[in-house]
Amino acid sequence: MIKIKNYINGELIDPKNQHYIDNIDPSRGKVYSQIPSSDKEDVEIAVKASEKAFETWSNMPKEQRSDIMLKVADLIEERMDEFVIAESLDNGKPISLAKAVDIPRAVSNFKFFATAILHYASESHYMEGVGVNYTVRKPLGVVGCISPWNLPLYLFTWKIAPALAAGNCVVAKPSEITPMTAFLLSKACIDAGMPKGVLNIIHGLGQNVGDAITRHPKIKAISFTGGTQTGKTIASIAAPMFKKLSLELGGKNPNIIFADCDFDKALSTTLRSSFANQGQICLCGSRIFIERPIYDKFKQAFVAKVNKTKVSYPTDPDARLGAVVSKSHMEKILSYIDLAKEEGGTILSGGTQVFLEGEYEDGYYIRPTVIEGLDYKCRVNQEEIFGPVVTITPFDTEEEVLMMANSTQYGLSATIWTENLTKAHRVADVVQAGIVWINSWLVRDLRTPFGGVKASGVGREGGFEALHFFTEPKNIFIKMGERGH
Ligand code: NDP
Repeated sequence: MIKIKNYINGELIDPKNQHYIDNIDPSRGKVYSQIPSSDKEDVEIAVKASEKAFETWSNMPKEQRSDIMLKVADLIEERMDEFVIAESLDNGKPISLAKAVDIPRAVSNFKFFATAILHYASESHYMEGVGVNYTVRKPLGVVGCISPWNLPLYLFTWKIAPALAAGNCVVAKPSEITPMTAFLLSKACIDAGMPKGVLNIIHGLGQNVGDAITRHPKIKAISFTGGTQTGKTIASIAAPMFKKLSLELGGKNPNIIFADCDFDKALSTTLRSSFANQGQICLCGSRIFIERPIYDKFKQAFVAKVNKTKVSYPTDPDARLGAVVSKSHMEKILSYIDLAKEEGGTILSGGTQVFLEGEYEDGYYIRPTVIEGLDYKCRVNQEEIFGPVVTITPFDTEEEVLMMANSTQYGLSATIWTENLTKAHRVADVVQAGIVWINSWLVRDLRTPFGGVKASGVGREGGFEALHFFTEPKNIFIKMGERGH
């Protein structure tokens, strides 16, 4: 059985306490590897190593840092199949998805920030007759990165890459539920010649490792992606310590489909935005609002497509949905389906667990589920389910749909479907979300700001926003002229 190790000070090592926890393959419901159950002692060692490495890493010419990061990207690319298989096994997602999205995106994250740093210019503000201000941006020191299980390497590298590129050293914790590709990343870093202590990856539970990272006084910033409740806990500890905080949290994203949309495109993209990665993407649209004139037509066509969507084991090339990530998560999703019935909803498609045969009989599979007839204010329409469950609701006016769309505590993303340009802009302007897609979904340009409003988060990732977060500006003024004091 594979035993994952921590990556601390450039080496793969056991946790100090020698405790390990089981790692489960959700497609079979079986333990397949063990991961360190690290604690604050391991975090302490990593922080010390990081502090030591910071001096060299932060003063290294950025071209050299960039080269090392590009080498890491190349190694992930060379080992693509190994990473793809590991991600799919750990998370339960179809192998086709890990191959098309997760791992290529981890490569892009490293390449993007390794090169972005080469174009990161400092600003200057000239004052006529007085002087000039120039603003340098310095790395923060040791920073903490904590990421979730849904897009394991994709989101892990989305934080680590800008932090490293900007010259910081990193103590990072992947989700304990999906640690395998972070372990493979450790090996790639060693092989790429990443200096010791620059990146440290510590495996273990959130309440142990995550908490120790959050509380450590030498860790200057926390970049976190995960649930809103965990984000609240982290903020309550880190904010009074004046740490910089980037929090990417939950969502309950609306899909707003107007009658004048391109029907076929709206239909096929909505299928994807509902159920990709078993609905476990923070950007999935889980509340579908359809304008009344096309409600019945859309409903019938959507349900017909959902009924044909294959749920299967991850290596099945025809699988559109794989397993959800864990037994407890499956139970949570099923409990929301029960709640939907209690709240007066009608299940139009799915609504049940799927039992595969043979070696997959104990896996965690759920049929993609479509529910109608629920009030927009009910719990199923307000709380994040984070699974293959969507609700459909008709609307009559723009005002009504915006009121319903904006009614949750969340505000991560939204999609708008209409061929009317003016209406698209008007709705995009007032829908409460950090990211809006018009006539599309999940088209990502890594230069754009990424993040949510309200309980979906604080701060932005992506492009120079991420480099801003991982640096501190210092303004320096030089007097040149006679004016001023
Ligand atoms: P969690 O909040 O449970 O966990 C996220 C990470 O935080 C994990 O590594 C977890 O460790 C760790 N953690 C847990 N408790 C603590 C703590 N007290 N202190 C520090 N770290 C802690 O989220 P999930 O992993 O369940 O991920 C799903 C959530 O992530 C959803 O709400 C989803 O919307 C959100 N998400 C948001 C995105 C965005 O960009 N806005 C993108 C993707 C997901 P452990 O695994 O051991 O619990």
